[in-house]
Amino acid sequence: MKVVIDNRTPYLNDFYFRTLCMLYFPGEKFREDGAETDGAPAARFLLEERADGFFCRTELSAGGRTEVGCFSTAGYRPFVEMTASDFASLALGKAYLEAGRKLFGFSLPWGYLLGLRPVKRAKYYLDRGYSPETVGKLFTEDYGVLPEKASLAVETARIEIDMLRDTRPDDCALYLSIPFCPTRCAYCSFVSCATPRLLSLLPAYLERLHADVRDTCRVIRELGMRLTSVYIGGGTPSILSEMQLRELLSLLERELPGGDIREFSFEAGRPDTITAEKLHILKASGVRRVSVNPQTTDPEVLRRIGRQHSVDAFFSAAECAMREGFDVVNADLIAGLPGDTRETFEKSLSDVMRIGFENITVHTLSVKKAAPLRFSADGVYDPAGELARSCVAYARRTLGAGGWFPYYLYRQKNIVGNAENVGYAKKGTENLYNVLMMEEYSTVFACGAGAITKLVSPERNEICRIAFPKYPYEYLDASDGIREPEIRRFFASLQEKKG
Ligand code: SF4
Repeated sequence: MKVVIDNRTPYLNDFYFRTLCMLYFPGEKFREDGAETDGAPAARFLLEERADGFFCRTELSAGGRTEVGCFSTAGYRPFVEMTASDFASLALGKAYLEAGRKLFGFSLPWGYLLGLRPVKRAKYYLDRGYSPETVGKLFTEDYGVLPEKASLAVETARIEIDMLRDTRPDDCALYLSIPFCPTRCAYCSFVSCATPRLLSLLPAYLERLHADVRDTCRVIRELGMRLTSVYIGGGTPSILSEMQLRELLSLLERELPGGDIREFSFEAGRPDTITAEKLHILKASGVRRVSVNPQTTDPEVLRRIGRQHSVDAFFSAAECAMREGFDVVNADLIAGLPGDTRETFEKSLSDVMRIGFENITVHTLSVKKAAPLRFSADGVYDPAGELARSCVAYARRTLGAGGWFPYYLYRQKNIVGNAENVGYAKKGTENLYNVLMMEEYSTVFACGAGAITKLVSPERNEICRIAFPKYPYEYLDASDGIREPEIRRFFASLQEKKG
């Protein structure tokens, strides 16, 4: 895609323009020069700072057609206080949305909001005393968000604010990564190891993980922090054998700075790895929340996404988890899967509601370049994504009527229909870890390949990220452990600033 920026301001860089372009032109590769080819997508922007505000003219072309959108902020009164850079993105965003709507015939659900965390923005303004109505208007009028998405963001933010009321600046969470899966699903680009050769790394990986968990727990104790939640995620953590599970959980029982842990979650995930015995071990070791994820309960859709388990395997794993008596069991579904229809999606949702999962997470398919499923070749990606959009809207209505409320939400790049992923929960069963991690509200210490420790100072609005090597074999080779000096430096600098 050719992108021309006729005039630059100091407020928005080229990356911002390109990221904006991807909303209507997902998956495009950008080039600076060269002749425009007939029918190839192109964008031309003129963004000027004038005495009375910002003016933007956007020209978008595709399939031999060109449309133009213009917007000026002169005399525009936004719903909240805005900086010059906010006004620049307002002018650009509004002009872009107008041109895109004329060219493609549909509006973007999240307007020109680019971030993955729209709820964080809603929460920011609610925390500063703006009313839910004003924040709703900010989203719809200033950002061009559709009313149903604006109300979803505001409702989710209000629930998060309630959930976070008792958190303290010294709270932290612990995340353990098990990036191994029995086989690879077609839509997945996660680094998870799914070949026999890579799976053979698991014993060594666990040994290293144990050492890192011991070190992390020691550091948490020495820093005097309050550990409130523990999350074992994947990949597929339930790929661990019963013996491996017992060893990991008894290590945690010994090492975790206990007393304040409010929740302990285990993302079992793939039904083909879950056994009654494993669930029993988890429950007996203090795990209070598990996930059993079908993604769909339609056999043909399951086959097309390469999930190598049957629908019956999901039902029986779900039944076992329910029987074991965990506080909360979660099920993940995905809207927009290849071969899924409105009817099959409705049936999947009705199945998980009937089983009585306290948490139901409704994702929308996000097409990843590294995943076996391809953008257009597999015919799944559609920026308009009407079917996926109608499925997520149906899920919101139906779950709301059934007593499940949205409590966390995030977006991803190249998500079908520009939709979102939403965690729904029955009141009082929300997963605190998901919110802390997504909204970057508390420190999360992470252990394992691909995991990211986020050191957070909510008081100073500072975040320091420490990423562990992506692949298990790199993680095994790395000699710098949990990077304790970096962790200590971050907290020491906070102390100094306080002093
Ligand atoms: S189970 Fe999850 S992490 Fe593993 S391959 Fe499938 S989608 Fe990816």
